[in-house]
Amino acid sequence: MIAKIKKFLIVDFSKCLTLGDQLKIMFEILFISWVLFTLVYIVTLIRGHAAPDIPSSAETSQVSEVSHPETSVESSAEPSEETAEPVISSLLGETQTLPLGYDEIYKGDLVLVNKQYPCHSDGEGTVPLMGIKSDSYMATDYTVSLNEAIVPNLDNMLDDFYDIYGESEIMVACGYRSRSNQEEIFANEVDEVGEEEAEQWVARPGYSEHQTGLVLDFTLYNDTEQSSLKYDGTGIYSWINENSYRYGFIVRYPYGKEEITGYNHESWHFRYVGYAAAYYINANELTLEEYIKTVQQHGVDDPMLIDAGSEDKWYVYYIPAKKDQTTNVIVPRNVDYTVSGDNFSGFIVTAKVDIKG
Ligand SMILES: [Zn+2]
Repeated sequence: MIAKIKKFLIVDFSKCLTLGDQLKIMFEILFISWVLFTLVYIVTLIRGHAAPDIPSSAETSQVSEVSHPETSVESSAEPSEETAEPVISSLLGETQTLPLGYDEIYKGDLVLVNKQYPCHSDGEGTVPLMGIKSDSYMATDYTVSLNEAIVPNLDNMLDDFYDIYGESEIMVACGYRSRSNQEEIFANEVDEVGEEEAEQWVARPGYSEHQTGLVLDFTLYNDTEQSSLKYDGTGIYSWINENSYRYGFIVRYPYGKEEITGYNHESWHFRYVGYAAAYYINANELTLEEYIKTVQQHGVDDPMLIDAGSEDKWYVYYIPAKKDQTTNVIVPRNVDYTVSGDNFSGFIVTAKVDIKG
């Protein structure tokens, strides 16, 4: 451009100006061009230095905009885990992820063991009740054992019962029962009443809830007469059947639910499921089967609120397990929670709502 101007000037003015004047004009033009060029260069430099602030924020927003489509691609692959986290976070605060193997579905307070789903554990975590239990009730002998974690709940329930009624005839006749022990019991029952009738009362080996260590049968034992009576949950003992949920226990085979549980009513057979589940099951007159079915309708993006009044509130949600893979189970970071397998398809998270927080 400048060269063009110079050429134009030289051609046009060369006809009427002396060589000295022409050279002078050329030098002036060159000087002005140099000054202009330098000015343009300096301005460009200044803009170049000032630029990082503006473009960098533009770049950042571009990056985050780009990352959104990527996130949504991932979340469409795993909808329950990715899209729902904000819901749980808004209800329970910060969250974290537990990578759980498929076998973990067979563990926990809420495992469903019935005629359809066998028990996969066999005595892990169980201890003899004698020696560690409170004095407000009895155990048949040293073979009676339970999952150690539930003994304090049993103690509390029967201590409270004793405080109210001063009665100490309650005996834990059976707790954890091994698979091999169940084989004997079932075979004996079949010998006595036949297979069809036996199935109404006794579980097939591997399918007994007693194998979980979370179950106990009560009987009544009169020490003076040295006689045992069937525990039927009536009279003063109805207090136990009506209040056991407050200690995390349910009457596992209630009246009228035989079709669902597969067993006749057993007033003496109690199963530990934890306070939140026991509260909900009791309040809604459900079985464990029905409770799990209900919870399975509530994913991590739509947790179920269990409100037992006062400060006892929980959010409960279900996360399906990935078959033979690790499942990322989202749990709260700063409030109490439990994770339990359901024994056949996934995980149930029960998180305490932090009222004070
Ligand atoms: Zn039982």
